[in-house]
Amino acid sequence: MTAISDLLEDPSIRAYLLRLIGEEGVDLLVKFPPEGEFSDEDLAAKTGINLNSVRHTLYTLYEKRLAGYRRIKNAETGWLTYLWQLNTDAIYHAICEDLQMVLEKLENRKKYEEENDFYICKTCGTFTFNEVADTNFQCPLCGNPVEHFNNETLLKALDLRISQIKQSPCYE
Ligand SMILES: [Zn+2]
Repeated sequence: MTAISDLLEDPSIRAYLLRLIGEEGVDLLVKFPPEGEFSDEDLAAKTGINLNSVRHTLYTLYEKRLAGYRRIKNAETGWLTYLWQLNTDAIYHAICEDLQMVLEKLENRKKYEEENDFYICKTCGTFTFNEVADTNFQCPLCGNPVEHFNNETLLKALDLRISQIKQSPCYE
């Protein structure tokens, strides 16, 4: 398993983890003992991080398969304890899944921008051809005339972002 300190040196991984679990969550990863499995209470005690925050982070990591647990039952009390361990190697898969979602959104947006003709009212924003064709090219909201809006710049920005994503190791 890759050491968390090595992973965090990669700015894109650090940014992803900060988005996912925040500063305190990243703090838990850094302080998580490298070997063994621990209950949430152990982790809170060992790291000095608030128990609720530890739990919240663990569940969020679990959803992305970045942490896993083993459940053990106390033979006397019948109480269940969850013993957690990190699975940081899943980070690459999690990030690629995330990127794939972003890519799909960008491609849908690109398609929408390509398939539509846009008109703008300086006060109210942009409208599609269909929205202003019925009103004789007057703003459906305020009635002022609308002007054709050239979305070339936006399309170029979308293309750039799409090609940047496709250059990531996820698409090799
Ligand atoms: Zn308007």
